[in-house]
Amino acid sequence: MRRTLFESVVKSPLTEASPGPDDAALAELAANVECAAHRRLGRSLSIREVDAGSCNGCELEIHALNNAFYDLERFGLRFVASPRHADVLMVTGPVTKNMREALQRTYDATPDPKWVVAVGDCAADGGIFSASYAVAGGVHAVVPVDLHIRGCPPSPTQLLKGLLALLEQS
Ligand code: SF4
Repeated sequence: MRRTLFESVVKSPLTEASPGPDDAALAELAANVECAAHRRLGRSLSIREVDAGSCNGCELEIHALNNAFYDLERFGLRFVASPRHADVLMVTGPVTKNMREALQRTYDATPDPKWVVAVGDCAADGGIFSASYAVAGGVHAVVPVDLHIRGCPPSPTQLLKGLLALLEQS
């Protein structure tokens, strides 16, 4: 025990240094998303995340939008717990047959106007899981999709760029 304590004091941490943030560019990007949301909706953007069967890699990147590094809430973008409060459904993963009805019901419960963003290669066409007997297909096989954000997984910055493109195209 003493040895472990001693080693923990003298050894350097095993964690990697955090990536060098291009904070100004990130802040500008998030602020642009916020402005576009106010232009389109007159308020901030609310996002409901739906995991339709992903490996959780895409979720980690989406969750990163809320961590201390990206901290999207400072720009007024927020994740909500109910589709009834959402403007955007961010759907990840191939849609599994078990989740097909849940995704459809989530879509139906989201008030208009609403947008569906398919996040990741799996959400586009099933990705590496497309041949599985348990997969119904990409998100568009179940609900209409407004935007695909490709990547395996896409980075938080790519997610933000996608949201901006969505708001500006609508
Ligand atoms: S796109 Fe990649 S990270 Fe996202 S669910 Fe599919 S395999 Fe996982």
